Amino acid sequence: MTSRSFLRLALAGAVASGAVTLSALPADASKPPRTVPVRLLALNDFHGNLEPPTGSSGRMVDEHGNTVDAGGAAYVATHMKALSDRNTIAVAQGDLIGATPLISAAYHDEPSVEFLGKLGLKVAAVGNHEFDEGYAELRRIMKGGCHPVDGCSPAGEWKGAAFDYVGANVLFKNRHAKTDAPAALGDSNAAELKQALGGSNAAELKQALSGFGVPALPPVSVKWMNGVPIGFIGLVTKTTPGIVSSEGIKDLTFVDEVKAANVASKLLRLVGVKAQVVLVHEGDQVEQGRSPDACSAVPGAGNRIATQVDPEIDVVLSGHSHQAYVCTVKDPRGRDRLFSQGGSFGRVITQVDMKVDARTRDIDRASLVADNHVVTRTVTPDPEISTFVQTWKDRVAPVANKAIGTITADITNTAAPSGESPLGNLIADAQLAATQTGGDAQIALMNPGGVRASLSHASSPAGEGDGVVTYGEAFTVQPFNNLMQVVTLTGAQLKTVLEQQFPGGPNNQAFTKILQPSANFTYTYSTSAAWGSKVSDMKIDGTPVTDTQTIRVAANNFLVGGGDAFLAFQEGTDVWSGPLDIDAFVDHLGKDNPIAPPATDRITVTG
Ligand SMILES: [Zn+2]
Repeated sequence: MTSRSFLRLALAGAVASGAVTLSALPADASKPPRTVPVRLLALNDFHGNLEPPTGSSGRMVDEHGNTVDAGGAAYVATHMKALSDRNTIAVAQGDLIGATPLISAAYHDEPSVEFLGKLGLKVAAVGNHEFDEGYAELRRIMKGGCHPVDGCSPAGEWKGAAFDYVGANVLFKNRHAKTDAPAALGDSNAAELKQALGGSNAAELKQALSGFGVPALPPVSVKWMNGVPIGFIGLVTKTTPGIVSSEGIKDLTFVDEVKAANVASKLLRLVGVKAQVVLVHEGDQVEQGRSPDACSAVPGAGNRIATQVDPEIDVVLSGHSHQAYVCTVKDPRGRDRLFSQGGSFGRVITQVDMKVDARTRDIDRASLVADNHVVTRTVTPDPEISTFVQTWKDRVAPVANKAIGTITADITNTAAPSGESPLGNLIADAQLAATQTGGDAQIALMNPGGVRASLSHASSPAGEGDGVVTYGEAFTVQPFNNLMQVVTLTGAQLKTVLEQQFPGGPNNQAFTKILQPSANFTYTYSTSAAWGSKVSDMKIDGTPVTDTQTIRVAANNFLVGGGDAFLAFQEGTDVWSGPLDIDAFVDHLGKDNPIAPPATDRITVTG
C-alpha cells in the first residue's frame, strides 16, 4: 500500500468515526510512543434489560464465588463510566434487542438502542435476535424512521442507532458481486473505504471478495484510537436461519463464520488495519458456578471460530450462549488469542486492555489482559439513565400493569420428565383455542424454547400472592410477537415432526426438544427406540391418528417455517395465519379464572 492511499484511509477513518482530531492522524513528524494503549469494554446479549432483570436472570456468580444481584441499565452505565478511560472503545456482540421486556419491546426496542447509544457504544455485531422482526426492521433500527405499521414512538421520529451494526457473514441471496468490489462492502463504510482504497488496491480487494457474495450489512467497522486504526469484524451464528422466523430473512443467507471472518480480515489488512477484533454472536457453554474470569468454556461452536479465524485477528469477543468466560486459545499459527464472553442481560462488562504498536499498527498479543466485571447493584445508579428508564417505564405502565386473569398457583416452564411443562401445555391450549375458528385447528404444538419465563402467583404488582396476572407478566412469557398459523399435515408428517424432536435424525436436531401439545393430543415416545421409531400411539380426542389422514395443526410462524430444526413443518399445506401468540395467550388467561397449572400427562414415556 502506498503511503498516499493510507493517508486517505486515515482521513476516511476519521470521518467514519467522527471522533478523531488531527493529532490522532498517523504522525510521522512528531515522535509517537512505541505503543499506545487501547481499552475495549464489551457487552453481549443485553436483550433490552433496561430495568434490572429479576429471578435467576438477575443474578451472577462473582469472582469470589458469591451469587450477587446484577444488571440494569442505570447500573451498567455507572460501571461503564467507572471503567472507561480516554483510550476506551465500547463494543457489543449482538442480541442487544429482540426477546426483550415489554418496556423495550412495546416500542420495537428503540429505547434499548437509544440507551446503548447513550452508553457510548461504537460497534456491535448483529445477533440472531436482531433479525426477530426481519431484515427491513433491522435496517430501520440502524438508519432511523418510524415503524411502518405502529408509527413513531412517544419519543418521536427514531433517529437510528448511534453505533455501527456489523455482520460480515450476512449476505444477500442470489446477488453475486459482479460489480466493483468496494461497492459490495455494504453501505455504511463503503463510501469511505472506496475513497480510501484508490486505484491499485481495488483490484486486490475485488480479488479478495470474488465469489464471496454481496454483504447485506457492513462487514467491518474501523475505529481510530490514539492514532491507530482498530478493525472490528462482525459475525452472527450461521445457525440463525434455524432459530429466527424465516419470512423476515428470506432474502438473506448466513455463511460460515470463519470463512466470512477471513475475507473481512483480508479486507482490513488490504487497507492497512492490522489490529483486528472479531465480535461474534456465537459462543460456548461453561461449567456452572465458576468465576466469570475462569476459562471453563467447553469447546464448541465458539471455540471453533476463535481458534480457526485468520491469524491476523488478535481478539475474539463472543456471545449467544449467555455465559461468562475469559480464555486464551491458539490461533492457526499457534499464537495466543483472547476468547471471551460476558454473560447476558447487562450483568457483565468485559474489559480488554491492550497495547498497539504505533509503527506496525498491530496489537501486541503479550499485552492483552481481559477481565469480566460483574455489573453489581451496590453502586449508585446513573441518574441520567435512571430518569431515562423511568420515562419509558411510565409510558408503558398502563399497558404493563393491566390485569388480564388470575391463576391458582405458580405455572412454571420447568420441564417434567416427559418434556412437557405446565406453562407450555397452557400455551398450547391457548393457541388451539385461538385458531379453531378461522383456522380449523385440531391440535396445537408449541416450541419449548419460546416459553421464556414462568408465571408467578406472587409477583403481581397488584398485590403479593393474589394470583393476578398482568399483561406485562404474560408478555415476559411470550415476547416474540410471533404469528399463530395453522397448516395441514398428514398423520405421517405429524409423526415425522415428533420424531424431529430427538437428535439423530437427518434434520440434525441438536438436543431433545419436546413440543408442548394441546390437551386433546396424546402420544407415547420411547427413549431407547431408534430415531424414526420413537413415536407411537398418537391420538386426537382419544381417536388414533392414521398415517394418511389430514390434520390441521396450529403452531407459531417460527415452527411452521421449520424453526428449531422441525423441518417437516415446512411440508404443511393450506397455511392460515391468525392472531399474535401473545394475544392468544392473553385471551386464554382471561377465561375460566382462576386457572390451575395444567397436568403434564399428555405424553407417555417408555424405556
Ligand atoms: Zn443469540
